Amino acid sequence: MRTYLEDILRVEYAFTAFLERIHSRNRFLTNEEIADTLAEFEDEKKLRMYACDYLRTSGSIQLDYKRLRIKEKTELCEHYKFTSLGAFLYIELFKGLEMHYIPRKCSYCGRWFLIEAGIYSEYCTRPVKGRDDGKTCRDLGHFKKYSEKIDNDPIWLTYNRAYKQHYARLLKKKMTQAEFQEWADYAIKLRDMVEHKKIGFDEYYKKIRE
Ligand SMILES: [Zn+2]
Repeated sequence: MRTYLEDILRVEYAFTAFLERIHSRNRFLTNEEIADTLAEFEDEKKLRMYACDYLRTSGSIQLDYKRLRIKEKTELCEHYKFTSLGAFLYIELFKGLEMHYIPRKCSYCGRWFLIEAGIYSEYCTRPVKGRDDGKTCRDLGHFKKYSEKIDNDPIWLTYNRAYKQHYARLLKKKMTQAEFQEWADYAIKLRDMVEHKKIGFDEYYKKIRE
């Protein structure tokens, strides 16, 4: 019973703290990065007081291979036996990391969800409560991030100001529609160049305002 309770608490404490580190870069980590993250986590042992603060297995795991027949097909399957819940959760966590199936807390609603192999996201795909347009945390989260970027990033701020100035020239007929379109294409090219560090910010700032 004690082991069982510790296993449950370990998910709440050690697993959560470890996963926070795993997600700190907002992308899937390589095996090498996972190994380094684990080593850093292990190195902080001094700060921990209880068994449930440690990332470890509370039991043993036995693996053997079995033949499994599913309808007409025969498959070779890994067959695991665990002596505790903690042992099962421990291997699930690491197998998940390896296969890119990783639990994470949604940055929009704060609830846990499972990131599935292929698409890394910090937002879940649950519909947002109180909306009837079916928008999910992922839709709104990415939009919020994009708006924040546009509002705070000097590259985007400069781009938006220059765009408004040029648009005003078009309205005052100081520029033709064709000239404005040409400038708009050029401005996007400039913005891409500075974002990919092909030109410096000063050069970008000067050219986009011309
Ligand atoms: Zn969510």
